[in-house]
Amino acid sequence: MPTAPQQPDSKTTDSIPSDALVFFGVSGDLAFKKIFPSLHAMAKRGHLTVPVIGVARRPWSIDDFRAHARASIEQHGGLDEAAFDTLAGLLRYVGGDYDDPATFKALRTELGAARHPAHYLAIPPSMFGPVVEQLAASGCTAGARVIVEKPFGRDLASAQVLNKILLGSFDEAHIFRIDHYLGKQPVHNMVFFRFANAFLEPVWNRKHVESVQITMAESFGVQGRGAFLEQTGTVRDVVQNHLFQVLANIAMEPPARSDGESMRDEKVKVLRSIKPISAANLVRGQFDGYLREEGVAAGSRVETFAALKLEIDSWRWQGVPFYIRAGKSLPVTCAEVVVRLRCPPQIFPACLAGSNHVRFRIGPDEALAIGMTVMDTAERGTGQAIELLDTRHPEGEAIDAYERLLGDAMVGDSALFAREDYVEEAWRIVDPVLGDATPVHAYQPGSWGPKEAAAIAPPGGWAVPEMGTAP
Ligand code: NDP
Repeated sequence: MPTAPQQPDSKTTDSIPSDALVFFGVSGDLAFKKIFPSLHAMAKRGHLTVPVIGVARRPWSIDDFRAHARASIEQHGGLDEAAFDTLAGLLRYVGGDYDDPATFKALRTELGAARHPAHYLAIPPSMFGPVVEQLAASGCTAGARVIVEKPFGRDLASAQVLNKILLGSFDEAHIFRIDHYLGKQPVHNMVFFRFANAFLEPVWNRKHVESVQITMAESFGVQGRGAFLEQTGTVRDVVQNHLFQVLANIAMEPPARSDGESMRDEKVKVLRSIKPISAANLVRGQFDGYLREEGVAAGSRVETFAALKLEIDSWRWQGVPFYIRAGKSLPVTCAEVVVRLRCPPQIFPACLAGSNHVRFRIGPDEALAIGMTVMDTAERGTGQAIELLDTRHPEGEAIDAYERLLGDAMVGDSALFAREDYVEEAWRIVDPVLGDATPVHAYQPGSWGPKEAAAIAPPGGWAVPEMGTAP
């Protein structure tokens, strides 16, 4: 964010850096694919200097644990020997069941003199409650932070229960709910771009914006995650969390200050202005072949595609439709947002509808584009749609989302984490249409979803994103 005046910040535990990272779920899939590489990157940048205490069931020795960490980093990003030596020197391991108080007694001992540990729960959601309760009972929560992986509940009621459990042992200021999408640089940059450029604000409202569309498409299918998808579906898996965060970045008002709470206040206000989705504004789809995937129940009605329409009933946005579509087995892999502006008065009849836009490409590559109509070079007076495009590549080694988020949580910076009221508002919006409350329509792999989705389309239709190239 641009620098803005900050209120004097008392040096409370909210801003004291964590002096240990306790890593629950250290032998899991997420840890192997994402977290060890991020810890390695932090060590390489000199940003990780505190003990990392892994906690899982496996009866590992410290050497087993280090070998596991090495294998993860070698397979996911590559290993720098000096950085790995630093990381390996910080690793500790506590083996035991999360239901067993002895595990937490051993953890308390391993924490030694640490007074402000960050407990990272990269574990199945069913274990969040038991682990928090055991942490509290063993005296590991005083002065501590807790970082919680997604999913945060599976509907409004379960999110409220989870919030109650966490708030029973931690203040909200010490709870960090991860949505790794928020840690992605292009998602972060949307807010920066909006508020760092004078030309946007005058048109960023209902007077000039015709529609907003957000697409998150995957050209691949289930990839062995059938059992997981059966528990979620597209709305729970990516709409309620990642894509609502993107929507909030597009729609939020300028925050009073650049601190985390001011940012989060504005995002919650966006969600508060959205009515619960009605069945008429959601189309769910399931690609042909999903039912044959391993882990998928016979006759499953879980969606692999969703298209929905929302309205933000605020002073800035009332009447502007916001569209979201997301799914698997679609024609391309890409996530992007297109904010379409209304056509100006037609002095030149060839001004092309839909060509005035701002496009944010979030992934897998990053780009920012301003769409406009110019005169065609060959035929005088005929409009031609062009884009001023900036394809962005990070300078130096890119900061991965998890590296950014874990680093932020360990210094108490909450800006990129979902607050209690935010997650509950997000669930409130989708609650009426969760599960099989609406029909699910079949679609062909490689298409843009079921034909019924044509009913949920922006004026002028969906922009067709090109296939992304991984950076
Ligand atoms: P896994 O099932 O692969 O790993 C679970 C981890 O929890 C293991 O380390 C396991 O230890 C430990 N564990 C589970 N139960 C117990 C217990 N009773 N006592 C001690 N240890 C226990 O899960 P993932 O890594 O896939 O997911 C973890 C979290 O991250 C979930 O909330 C998930 O939703 C979230 N997430 C995962 C993503 C992914 O790509 N995998 C992506 C985004 C979020 P042990 O192996 O020793 O049994």
